Amino acid sequence: MKPFEPDLIFFEPEALKYPLGEELYRRYKNSGIPVRMTTSHNRVTGIPGRTEAEKYRNAKRTLVVGVRKTLKFDTSKPSAEYALPLATGCMGHCHYCYLQTTMGNRPYIRVYVNLEEIFAAARKYILERAPEITRFEAACTSDPVGVEHITGSLKRAIEFMGGQELGRLRFVTKYSHVEPLLDADHRGHTHFRFSINADHVVKFFEPGTSPLRDRLEAAGKVARAGYPLGFIIAPLMIFDGWKEGYGRMLEELRDRLPRKRRRS
Ligand code: SF4
Repeated sequence: MKPFEPDLIFFEPEALKYPLGEELYRRYKNSGIPVRMTTSHNRVTGIPGRTEAEKYRNAKRTLVVGVRKTLKFDTSKPSAEYALPLATGCMGHCHYCYLQTTMGNRPYIRVYVNLEEIFAAARKYILERAPEITRFEAACTSDPVGVEHITGSLKRAIEFMGGQELGRLRFVTKYSHVEPLLDADHRGHTHFRFSINADHVVKFFEPGTSPLRDRLEAAGKVARAGYPLGFIIAPLMIFDGWKEGYGRMLEELRDRLPRKRRRS
């Protein structure tokens, strides 16, 4: 499965003042993908579509490059203290995804370019809680691996957290495009998780995400890159042949992971 490419891109004028915003603008303005401006990433208008369903589908293929103005992070209990806002929205179409209701009227994919400001805010949260460890979750409102080939923000967040003695990062993904992250200087401070499910569930309930086999292969690479690694198997579904389906998934997972990482 190829990495996501948008059909339409909007930029906030403010985003062009940041190196990443400028770089993305330069990259896309002559790419053949239509580029437009929007006054705010919170109110994007002009996404085409004759019906609401068509507009929704087109919005999920629209990228919005903006500045994250709210630097007060949401809490993300119990698995982390705070949500790290790198992106909002996802190109996947998982039938059960909670983003479909929480982002119902703004389903487009927003990426934020003011990374230094976001990291400075994270540093403040870490200092406030010292000497306790502070954990940040980067997948509360998006799948950050799904847009990493566009922004490179997740790698920067991983390396930022690698340099924080008391900071930890975690995220979960259904995408297999992990190559840019494999050489990141993570220092064991990032917990990489894959969301996996039986092949049947991936095929019929998770359209627009990476096939199971690709996710498992990616997990093997991530394990070899030394990241702390975990898996989420959810939602568990009962379908004809579910026991065999989940059994095959677990066997394949075992076979893809390096032997020495299987018990860790
Ligand atoms: S990949 Fe995750 S965030 Fe994206 S649609 Fe599926 S469940 Fe939602």
